[in-house]
Amino acid sequence: MKMQLPARRELISSPLMQPTRFQILGSNSSGNCALLETDTTRILIDAGFSAKKIKELLTEAGRTIEQIDGVFITHEHNDHTVGLRGLSRYPHLRFFANRDTAKAIQKRLRSRPNWHVFETGAKFSFRDLDVTSFSVPHDAYDPVGFVFEWGYGDLFSPRRSLGWVTDLGYIPQLVRERIRSVNILVVESNYDVELLEKDPHRPWSVKQRIRGRHGHLSNQDALDLLSSMESVNWEQVFLVHLSRDCNDIGRIRTLFAPLVHSNCAFRLNVVDPRTGLAPAIAG
Ligand SMILES: [Zn+2]
Ligand SMILES: [Zn+2]
Repeated sequence: MKMQLPARRELISSPLMQPTRFQILGSNSSGNCALLETDTTRILIDAGFSAKKIKELLTEAGRTIEQIDGVFITHEHNDHTVGLRGLSRYPHLRFFANRDTAKAIQKRLRSRPNWHVFETGAKFSFRDLDVTSFSVPHDAYDPVGFVFEWGYGDLFSPRRSLGWVTDLGYIPQLVRERIRSVNILVVESNYDVELLEKDPHRPWSVKQRIRGRHGHLSNQDALDLLSSMESVNWEQVFLVHLSRDCNDIGRIRTLFAPLVHSNCAFRLNVVDPRTGLAPAIAG
């Protein structure tokens, strides 16, 4: 009897394949980490909690660290990298960062993670992921945002993409172009202008840094971005990196109400800085 090669469809539906899943494990000014699962790949985006905490968050999500293939790092700040101390002990994990970011993190580590250094702006592949990084204006060595694309481009595995943009003082035109066509957008909405202004714990210089061109996006900045861009493919938008002290989900709801009540075509989720849960406020 003639042996038949399996059709591509069968390969796609094999038990090794998994449906796309994206979940923010936690996000606030002190820690950030998300899980992206495509047909054949599981990655973390940033590792801003202790390795112990990340493992707990993964357990809650029904996953283990052994099931993760790689960690993509945006920049060296602790709220994105503190987990590398513990995670770098896992030899199967690959750590993706540009040269300056990897160098800055390595200085703080005893062991050497399995670095995969990329060039900012260059497109590269990791398993079934096509990855593009791009510069963002922030007070770090070489901070980046990412666009991840995956899928075979057919009915059963459509082409999908995710854009990740946190830690930036403003949104340059290039960043707008990069995130225009993604299906899932993750964007920073760090602080409420008034709450930051009134905050009694932060000195003026820190407030200036946060508000500056290399600081963070305010709720208003995030709203301006979402309401000003046309011909977008966004289906889901996540507002992340909220400050626990200088932001408030109620205020975000009020501020974003006009956008929500206009014919905004995407589902808008705000990631609670305390629980990491991402309730939808529209869509
Ligand atoms: Zn941050
Ligand atoms: Zn930062």
